[in-house]
Amino acid sequence: MDFDIKKLVRPNIEKLKAYSSAKDEFTGQADVLLDANENSLGSPLTKWYNRYPDPYQKEVKEKIAFIKKLPQSQIFLGNGSDEIIDLLFRVFCEPGKDNSIICPPTYPMYEVSANINDVAILSAPLLTDFQLNVAHIEQLVNAQTKIIWICSPNNPTGNNIDRIDIETILNHFNGIVVVDEAYINFSKQKSFAQSLIDYPNLVVLQTLSKAWGLAGIRLGMCFANETIVGYLNKVKAPYNINLPAQELALKALDEVGQVNDMIQHLVEMRIALAEVIESMPHVIKVYPSDTNFLLVKIPHATKLYAYLSSKGIIVRNRSTLPNCEDTLRITVGNEKENTLLVDAMAAWIEQNFS
Ligand SMILES: *Cc1c(COP(=O)(O)O)cnc(C)c1O
Repeated sequence: MDFDIKKLVRPNIEKLKAYSSAKDEFTGQADVLLDANENSLGSPLTKWYNRYPDPYQKEVKEKIAFIKKLPQSQIFLGNGSDEIIDLLFRVFCEPGKDNSIICPPTYPMYEVSANINDVAILSAPLLTDFQLNVAHIEQLVNAQTKIIWICSPNNPTGNNIDRIDIETILNHFNGIVVVDEAYINFSKQKSFAQSLIDYPNLVVLQTLSKAWGLAGIRLGMCFANETIVGYLNKVKAPYNINLPAQELALKALDEVGQVNDMIQHLVEMRIALAEVIESMPHVIKVYPSDTNFLLVKIPHATKLYAYLSSKGIIVRNRSTLPNCEDTLRITVGNEKENTLLVDAMAAWIEQNFS
């Protein structure tokens, strides 16, 4: 494969001179900071919130680098993975000209972000077992194809994508292959983060929003080679990760043990919940899941969705997606929530099928 990142990146981004903050230009120790027009008296909150945050989040990256066993230079942080998805389009895809391949049913933000950036979407739907249609993907690729999006484990289907298929695409496609691993901590599958050395075109996305329990602080992680990280740094807003988010992430990243306990507990509850739902009359299928949610197939799913909503239980109706007719995506709740869900489903099934 002759992968040439310089040919892939948009020429305006290659040429771009990034915004340079005072913090970029001075790296020594300073006591008098009169460079950024901050409020020198302090703030109504914790005093140091008067200061702009570290634009490159070095302390946070140091901890992530340690946990992920990667050099800091291969880590980029975003205001959620959603920001990174948008930045990847802006770095690599020329609006109105380039295209990108998605494999539905999958995470909807790839397509939304493509539309915002006026990048055409080519679609290679997953096969009925929710695995990649590699031949279809290869057929769709043309000179304007810059990014292929693969979500593994996939949202909303819950399954891992075959590693060999992902490797085939990484080996044959001369553009960027994004592997979105938002649910990797729940999965038996090995992360692709350890394979960056083998694939210069690989971008791995992870997030603190799911297993880490920190959707509220908005911190997405991207692992890629240094050149790609460099382009993302050029294009991002200078202070994209706010100071409270960096402080809270630093604290949370010390709690790997607690997070691993939560992951284990959620996986146990997922297995138990899947068994209970699978055993309910009229349920057609609970799809195997390597995540913290279940995709459930049941007749009249849209009616069940409305019934659950009327009882104050909100799940995600996925019935309009390809190969997902009559499905609901249900997040594994805590014990009490799971019981409420199961009881409501049982009541609805009893009313509707007897
Ligand atoms: C939840 C989710 C994300 C997370 O996005 P954040 O912006 O980091 O919260 C990314 N990708 C997939 C597939 C998801 O399901």
